[in-house]
Amino acid sequence: DTLVNQIAAGEVIERPASVVKELVENALDAGARRVDIDLEEGGVRLLRVRDDGLGIAPDELPLAVSRHATSKIASLDDLEVVATLGFRGEALPSIASVSRFTISSRRAGAEHGAALSVDGGRVGDVVPRAHPRGTTVEVRDLFYNVPARRKFLRAERTELGHIEEWLRSLALARPDVELRVSHNGRASRRYRGGEGEGLALDEGAARLVETLGEAFAQAALRVEHATTPRPADDGRDAAPALRLHGWIAQPTYSRASADQQYLYVNGRAVRDRSVAHAVKQAYADVLFHGRQPAYVLFLELEPARVDVNVHPAKHEVRFRDARMVHDFVYRALHEALAGTRA
Ligand code: ADP
Ligand code: MG
Repeated sequence: DTLVNQIAAGEVIERPASVVKELVENALDAGARRVDIDLEEGGVRLLRVRDDGLGIAPDELPLAVSRHATSKIASLDDLEVVATLGFRGEALPSIASVSRFTISSRRAGAEHGAALSVDGGRVGDVVPRAHPRGTTVEVRDLFYNVPARRKFLRAERTELGHIEEWLRSLALARPDVELRVSHNGRASRRYRGGEGEGLALDEGAARLVETLGEAFAQAALRVEHATTPRPADDGRDAAPALRLHGWIAQPTYSRASADQQYLYVNGRAVRDRSVAHAVKQAYADVLFHGRQPAYVLFLELEPARVDVNVHPAKHEVRFRDARMVHDFVYRALHEALAGTRA
């Protein structure tokens, strides 16, 4: 089984940033309001994610590190409409098969916490462990037993950069959660959650400043566009509900580049050429700018109209009606940008 897990790890766990992604998504699935991430040597030596979520009962710890023990998929059909972030039940066993791994947790309301260690896939015993409400997963010496993988890891700064970039993208989508990162014992990033600590901005706008900076926020134009759904009649297809919201930076923002293009579909960060094209096209048509626009855009549509299961790492989606989505995004941006030209 260790081998099976290592093969699965090969698909999903490419580098420390992939581990951070899986662990932080689990924390959010568990309802965490705050997530602390401690790293050493770019996350290769140590990667620790602590949350204040629901926690795991001691007798469920072995399940959490065994394959497909997830409770999230009741039937194959559910895959189509899966709304939570994780859904494969492979992440923890995969990570634990290629590292020295410990999970410690205490359920909300439980008196005692517990911990379970896994060394290169060998699962130990559940032992009592004091722990605040929530869960801590500690991953040491990533790929220590898979030299072929280890070889592909890059310099500490590069691995840290990948982690921070992924977290920035997450932070934009989850302004309600506080995220802290430390690297080699020093605080390196902090995204405050919740009330925005006295800022005269709403949560999302405050997070925009935290993640992409004052200059972006100053130049940012709000996008808010939705269609009203039409029920199916006369054998025609129902018109789906679509909503696009977020920000696009106006040309006054001089640092715009293709790596400041954040797109989320139903809350999940994705890349999609067709949507990217629609945004760029509207930007060019209204503002006569050939440049890459910078943006943070959230597209929401019925889960059944989008397939998120294209790749295990889930960066890509497939729309049922790609053309319609493209045109909707184009119209939304056209409308938002046209307002600035009066
Ligand atoms: P998946 O997230 O796809 O279900 P994982 O391997 O990532 O699979 O996690 C396995 C299970 O362990 C989860 O379904 C969840 O029940 C439990 N779990 C993992 N991390 C946490 C956490 N931080 N807090 C609470 N439960 C967790
Ligand atoms: Mg998961």
